[in-house]
This record gives sequence, C-alpha cells and structure tokens, in this order.
Amino acid sequence: MRYEILTLPCLADNYAYLLHDKATGSTALIDAPEAAPVLAALKARGWSLDMVLLTHHHWDHVDGLPDILAETSPRIVGAAKDAARLPALDLAVSEGDEVEIGGLKGRVIDVSGHTVNHIAFAFEGAVFTGDSLFAMGCGRVFEGDMEMMYQSLQKLAVLPADTMVYSGHEYTLANAKFAAAQWPDDAAIAARLADIKRLRAAGIPTVPSLLSLELATNPFLRATDAKEFAEIRLAKDNF
Ligand code: ZN
Ligand code: FE
Repeated sequence: MRYEILTLPCLADNYAYLLHDKATGSTALIDAPEAAPVLAALKARGWSLDMVLLTHHHWDHVDGLPDILAETSPRIVGAAKDAARLPALDLAVSEGDEVEIGGLKGRVIDVSGHTVNHIAFAFEGAVFTGDSLFAMGCGRVFEGDMEMMYQSLQKLAVLPADTMVYSGHEYTLANAKFAAAQWPDDAAIAARLADIKRLRAAGIPTVPSLLSLELATNPFLRATDAKEFAEIRLAKDNF
C-alpha cells in the first residue's frame, strides 16, 4: 500500500481521516469535526499536515478547523460552488478536478443531496464520502432532492468494487437494524448486522467498508431507480 489512513473518532459519532503518502510524507486530513484527536494523531506519528479536504459545510465537519490551523498550516480544499458557506479555501475544486497529496491523486466527485455541493474524494482504493454514502446507509436529503441524491450515490457505485468507503459518521448499527427490519429474509444483511453488532460491542469502528459489501447490503445502493430510493429514504427517516 502506498498510503496509510488513520480513522479518527471525533465528537459523538463523527469520523475524520488522515491520509498519509508513504513515499513523500505528505498528509491530508479529510473533514475537521474536532481538533484534539487530529492534532494528537499528527503528533503521535510525527506527521505534518499539508492539506485539509472538506466534504461539505455542516458544522460537524468544519468546526475543528480553527484550532487545527492554530498549530498547522495546511492548504484548505473544498467545493468551489460552496465557497461562500465553507471556511476560507486555498483551493476551490469542482467535479472532475484532481487533488494531489504528495504522489496520491484524488478525484473530486459531486455527490449533492445531503447538501447541495457536497463533494467526495476518490483515491485509488479509497473514497472519502462525508455524509453522502454511509456504511449500510446514506445521508439524509436535506438540501437536494431524492433524484439528485440517487444520482450521486450511483456515481460512487461505479467506483472499483474493491474501493474502501471512508464515511463521515458511525451510524452503521442503526442503518443495519433498519435494513434487517425492512428485509428480514436477506441473509447478507442479517450476516452483516451480526458483524456490526460484534464490532460495536467491542468499540471498534465499522468504517471503512468495502464498496462491494455496500453494493450487496446497502439498501440505498441496491435501489434500482430514484423512486425506489426515495421510498427507502422516507422509510428510514421515519424508522
Ligand atoms: Zn452533514
Ligand atoms: Fe455530519
């Protein structure tokens, strides 16, 4: 593996990630829910922070940034179309743009729906999805509409099946319980629910998860059109 990724639990149920390019030593943070876990991880590894990639404007993904910037000097990357709502950006990006962390290249994907102008970052083997795609779930559709969110998830679904999905929250157990309730005869969902219960009981994050497993067990990725997606999303909202 050319890189190392640290999963950093933050706040009540957020995740931030440190992506470290082994060849060059360059390091990027994906989302900034909280400063202390990020600064502690950087210090423990002796890494300096070169870049912060922001997925969307919600407070639980950006509010740690001022305290991180008090001790580090990364370039801040976020969606050009959302610059007015994001912290000050050094690099404003749009769908199809590439970000470089040392020798690692990440492609920007517009995954609007949870918020409009929410972006994901797809590296070789790893995609950082923020609050778009979750393990066994997806973000609530706050700003966009159901068609938009469905199309956004479809962009993630076509990444290589061995891609690891690094999402922004530990919502997996609740997502799995919903899926198991809706599809009680689905063996793959039942097996995954059991795995997730075991991991959470041991305090282990359920992220990242393999995209192929999401394609098989995530109800929102299994939906075959926007209408079906909307029905599942509404059922989950009311679960
Ligand atoms: Zn959010
Ligand atoms: Fe969030």
